[in-house]
Amino acid sequence: MAVEMHAGLASEGGSKLKMLLTYVDNLPSGSEKGTYYALDLGGTYFRVLRVELGGQKSSILDQYVERQPIPEQLMSGRSEELFDFIAESLQQFVEKGNDSEQFSSRKELGFTFSFPVKQTSVSSGILIKWTKGFAIKDMVAKEVAGGLQQALVRKGLNMRVTVLVNDTVGTLALGHYHDADTVAAVIIGTGTNACYWERTDAIIKCQGLLTASGGMVVNMEWGNFWSSHLPRTSYDIELDAESPNSNDQGFEKMISGMYLGDIVRRVILRMSEESDIFGPVSSSLSSPFALTTPSMAAMHEDDSPELTEVARILKGVLEIPDVPLKARKLVVKVCDVVTRRAARLAAAGIVGILKKIGRDGSGGITGGRSRSDIKMRRTVVAVEGSLYTEYTMFREYLHEALHEILGEEISQHVIIKVSEDGSGIGAALLAASHSSRSVDNVQPL
Ligand code: ADP
Ligand code: MG
Repeated sequence: MAVEMHAGLASEGGSKLKMLLTYVDNLPSGSEKGTYYALDLGGTYFRVLRVELGGQKSSILDQYVERQPIPEQLMSGRSEELFDFIAESLQQFVEKGNDSEQFSSRKELGFTFSFPVKQTSVSSGILIKWTKGFAIKDMVAKEVAGGLQQALVRKGLNMRVTVLVNDTVGTLALGHYHDADTVAAVIIGTGTNACYWERTDAIIKCQGLLTASGGMVVNMEWGNFWSSHLPRTSYDIELDAESPNSNDQGFEKMISGMYLGDIVRRVILRMSEESDIFGPVSSSLSSPFALTTPSMAAMHEDDSPELTEVARILKGVLEIPDVPLKARKLVVKVCDVVTRRAARLAAAGIVGILKKIGRDGSGGITGGRSRSDIKMRRTVVAVEGSLYTEYTMFREYLHEALHEILGEEISQHVIIKVSEDGSGIGAALLAASHSSRSVDNVQPL
């Protein structure tokens, strides 16, 4: 991971890691004030948020978040339909809120867009490609924020898209707002990705990049990470081949919530084809994505002695009735293996980032000093996404692997912090720090 990060920073197309510039060269300082809005378009959910900032010491006076699933037909329709739906939800949200000055002054909006974007400024960028099952063809290679701004105008909303950010960047912003030692952010939800704070002189592909802070947030797009060192099973190969984005997002397809359930389904399907422990192969078992990751997690975490939840899901979701206890235990084991691999890969990725920025305890120093001689700075990684927050076993395996790779000594200084709704709230914070009203909020890390 660390090697690929270097390669992606050295030249455009130098690695499967895109290492995208974000143009976010300062993070919210805590002195931002006023009411700001954000829209967070994830892979499964769409969130509308309002944040009231107190203006001192990182005080969020109030926050409101509304979450709804993204209607499936909008994921592959036309861009105008998606943007009109988003604008409509925002309008309803604004109208029922008690923002007293809502009609008098223009409001600043942060737009969290969790797909790979080549930014042209902090408030604009071009969609490189879709991931996580989205396929709105007329948006690819087009500017993203403009489409939303036009929909806001169509709805008569007095709002400006002040920042267009990746969900990782929003999460880093909120993490850093509360804890200035936060250096990176990781998303583990429908998809997976990470960003971190990088020195501009290390961004070699962008010669002469100058920022007041001397740094910039880099969106790694780590979901697309691949390495010949990474072993792949036949299940991974088949899942990839049948996906709309084959040969892309290889790391994501082993880690994130969109895929884990389907890997498990593929393993059970193979077992069912090659033995008779699950009876005849059911049609549900053969249909892609029939087993979702939350259902898989529920089977994995079934602690009843008879594994009744496993039996219920096998029957109700995969149409496999009357599975003997021995085979139910096997299913739990499959869930465990798949989740453990995912969590350990994510942990290894985090250590890769720490290594790249010299926070893994090795200090990048050659010779002489041993690991324990190096003074390790407190290092915080902000994490967001329901796979991490809702799936206890995943979370535990991730922590265990971090501990194992970094060692007792170093891992004491590495803190993983949940940044709840960070991707959206962080975007509102960035809208605040980039708003026309604020001037003095540059705070380098
Ligand atoms: P988004 O990716 O849309 O921003 P989230 O971060 O909330 O949204 O992630 C949603 C994904 O997290 C779901 O698609 C699902 O795969 C996974 N997930 C949600 N709840 C659970 C759960 N209880 N156990 C395991 N995975 C879950
Ligand atoms: Mg999200």
